[in-house]
Amino acid sequence: MATKTKNKYEFKAEIKQLLDILVHSLYTHKEIFLRELISNASDALDKVRFQITKGEEVKDKDLPLEINITTNEKKKLLTVSDTGIGMTEEELVENIGTIAKSGTGEFLKKLSENKEKASELIGKFGVGFYSVFMVAEKVIIKTRSYKPDAVPVAWESDGSGSYEIYELDKDIKRGTTIEVYLKDDEKEFAEEWRIESIIKKHSNFVAFPIKLNKKQINTVSAIWREPKTSIKPEQYNEFYKFLTYDNEAPMEVIHTSVDAPIQFTALLFIPKKQFDFFGLQREDYGLDLYVRRVLIQHKSKDLLPEYLSFVRGVVESEDLPLNVSRETLQENIIFTKIANSVTASVLNHLSKMAKERPEDYEKFWREHGKIFTLGYSDFANMDKWQELYRFNSSFYEDEKGLSSFERYVSRMRDNQKEIYYIFGPSRAAVENDPHTEIFKRKGVEVIYVYDPLDDFALSSIRKYKDYEIKPVDQADLSKLEKLDDVETAEDKPSEMTKEEKLHFSSLLSKMKEILGDAVTEVRESKRLSGSPAVLVNPDDALSSTMQKILQIQNNDNSIPKRIMEINPNHKLIRNLVKIFAANSNDEYIEQVTRQLYESALLLEGYLKDPHTLVKNINKILEESSDWYVQVKDLK
Ligand code: ADP
Repeated sequence: MATKTKNKYEFKAEIKQLLDILVHSLYTHKEIFLRELISNASDALDKVRFQITKGEEVKDKDLPLEINITTNEKKKLLTVSDTGIGMTEEELVENIGTIAKSGTGEFLKKLSENKEKASELIGKFGVGFYSVFMVAEKVIIKTRSYKPDAVPVAWESDGSGSYEIYELDKDIKRGTTIEVYLKDDEKEFAEEWRIESIIKKHSNFVAFPIKLNKKQINTVSAIWREPKTSIKPEQYNEFYKFLTYDNEAPMEVIHTSVDAPIQFTALLFIPKKQFDFFGLQREDYGLDLYVRRVLIQHKSKDLLPEYLSFVRGVVESEDLPLNVSRETLQENIIFTKIANSVTASVLNHLSKMAKERPEDYEKFWREHGKIFTLGYSDFANMDKWQELYRFNSSFYEDEKGLSSFERYVSRMRDNQKEIYYIFGPSRAAVENDPHTEIFKRKGVEVIYVYDPLDDFALSSIRKYKDYEIKPVDQADLSKLEKLDDVETAEDKPSEMTKEEKLHFSSLLSKMKEILGDAVTEVRESKRLSGSPAVLVNPDDALSSTMQKILQIQNNDNSIPKRIMEINPNHKLIRNLVKIFAANSNDEYIEQVTRQLYESALLLEGYLKDPHTLVKNINKILEESSDWYVQVKDLK
């Protein structure tokens, strides 16, 4: 081989950082480097097969599509060779010199922060080609692109800081060969039996023959094409692990085959755990789409809606044209029909699970429910989504209970026409919210949601069957009033006398006068039992949370004007009526009114400055301690 000019390049900073971590990591499963190299080879073969089926001009068109691996113990050399798409010089610099994978920056940050978690991260994230430097002291890539006039090139590096690129002889065939010169203490990876067992463990389902020293190792069968009855659970598990790098078996397997009106087969999995650890894999989802055995799109995001993105797997159809381009897939009617059908299979599976195995379904919900909730906007599948949606509610003892709309409705009171919900940061917060008092008194169940997304979802769907879904602060109280109380309040004070009623009504006007423009109105409350006062949203069209979201979006810091409602049966208010009757200008009335308003604001999440509130409380405490001393005669 003639020596040609060698061009030297420096690695980009992020690659240096990755290499440094990989080389020095105590990662114990270094064998995964081979999985990464074989996976790259398989991708390259998929790509060239795609070019061939499209009828493009391809160099060495008749080469068999396969992966050849050789071991040489004496030289401590392992080679992985494919007849795939290859790379031109520019592609070599571009692809091997940079890390394109989304989330890599974040991944590196997490790696350096969590050295002890590195193993798990390296295995799951799939660090790609560079993982080879965990075992290699030198790597040479020799490659020739499928493009007929491309020049064969080599890339060589010891992984320390730079690499070299040089041209190779013209007689090299299409594809890529990776020569891995092993470090002394990694020479086990030049042993044939070791390599064979790694291939069987991690790469058994690769769709191209993998030959080790000329002997084929993998089974090259498309498991999803086989009849369900002939597949053992272990085979599904193995395939799932191959596909996802997950080390746990899947939670659910969905294997369907449809012949009419459109033929397709889908083998789908629901993982036991959410994949989105550290938010790294947000973009890393989708199903692999095959057309007549050719991989058309890896991780296609258009076969399932985003809210089902926790599903992994493959879909294969005979009915799509082979030369369909990835760009026009979405506009292809057959593709759209397949996607709708795949979505329906997943939803049907979940609904069967919910009916037949409710405990499993709850486990599913706790793991993937958050993503699933995003489906509130899938109008085409709204009935199914509503059937599958779960929430906590006042029916349960604690925040662990989960209900469906169907069960909520079965527990509704006679004549109850609406479904009610409240959003708050925690179970304790919503349980103690004054707005829920009337619901407790009337024995009406309230849905409790703790995530703004659920609040958003419930306010968007608006209806379940014929029942309107309403936030508690927008409930029509006249409807609730008609229901009998279930809680008999024993210490409910006696009715007010006519005179007291008059004083109460003037007290309300006085309170409005004190609060001025801060509130739109002060009125008697029908909804309260245990609290003296509450702020109510006068805007029927907008729920309080929606209002908050809009304010945040518009950078609006103002406190929206509310109606203050006063509970005439609360002891504090009864005492205020007495004080008011004696002296309508008593200073204490103003003090309490302001404090009631500030406390209510605090509950609504609008209190910006706690100073006034605290100062006010301290003053009231000081006075009440004086009275206490007097009453107890402690002077
Ligand atoms: P990833 O496979 O996640 O993209 P890698 O670092 O493993 O990341 O590879 C980077 C890129 O290098 C690949 O996307 C591909 O374009 C190219 N590449 C790697 N191995 C091969 C190969 N055997 N044949 C052709 N291209 C390859």
